[in-house]
Amino acid sequence: MPEGDTVWRACKRLDQALGGQELTRTDFRVPSLATTDLSGRTMLEVVAKGKHLLMRLSDGVTIHSHLRMEGSWHLYRPGEPRKGGPDYQVRVVLETANWVAVGYRLPVLELVATAAEDTVVGHLGPDLLSPDFDRSVALANLAAEPDRTISEALLDQRRIAGMGTVYRAETLFLGGVSPFRSVSEVRDVGKVLSLARRLMLANLNNPLQVTTGIARRGKQHWVYGRAGMPCRRCGTIIQSAMQGPSPDRERIVYWCPTCQPA
Ligand SMILES: [Zn+2]
Repeated sequence: MPEGDTVWRACKRLDQALGGQELTRTDFRVPSLATTDLSGRTMLEVVAKGKHLLMRLSDGVTIHSHLRMEGSWHLYRPGEPRKGGPDYQVRVVLETANWVAVGYRLPVLELVATAAEDTVVGHLGPDLLSPDFDRSVALANLAAEPDRTISEALLDQRRIAGMGTVYRAETLFLGGVSPFRSVSEVRDVGKVLSLARRLMLANLNNPLQVTTGIARRGKQHWVYGRAGMPCRRCGTIIQSAMQGPSPDRERIVYWCPTCQPA
């Protein structure tokens, strides 16, 4: 699943291309929207809420999509070859005079009234990337389940929104916190949140998601994707494991057993 900053970058690109432009043609290829035609409406703005994409159109309509593991949005110039996947994976095409936005494999694609966006994103906790991130609400949300492991809690979008497995691993490493500690065992959860925000905000315009300060592929992370390799700080072999509330919802965690003692 992409991290919040990945969705934020996608929204920014879509907003720069489509924002303020009239839709000249729309083609929805999901059964529930098969007869929908939004041509003639103006794309007012594209914004990210956690990992959700909201395309706000004139006349109070929002196109809500979510990428989960498999979805993506691509932008093309009219007539340009499309490389996002085979045609049968296209879920929606939105055209303006200058751009064609194509949504591939979107597991969530629906229309909601802009005034009712809360019905699709209202469950989200404070967004780590939001300028008005509400730290006290985030802390209270995490504290509400004190026995849960900190690593599972950080990925629960109802508690805080925007975190994925990359920033989770890197944040816990930099905070010296074992992913297997319970929320109540973490001395300073606020510090963990501050670290996460700092890493994510620093990478808003950087798809490499650099946390080490070295913007080179293979060097950009402390522990994420480095199982079996020596810790960059202490030389201990980095570990990985699957962790989650149930076998079908397990996600990978990485940690250094020395820098992040259990
Ligand atoms: Zn280490």
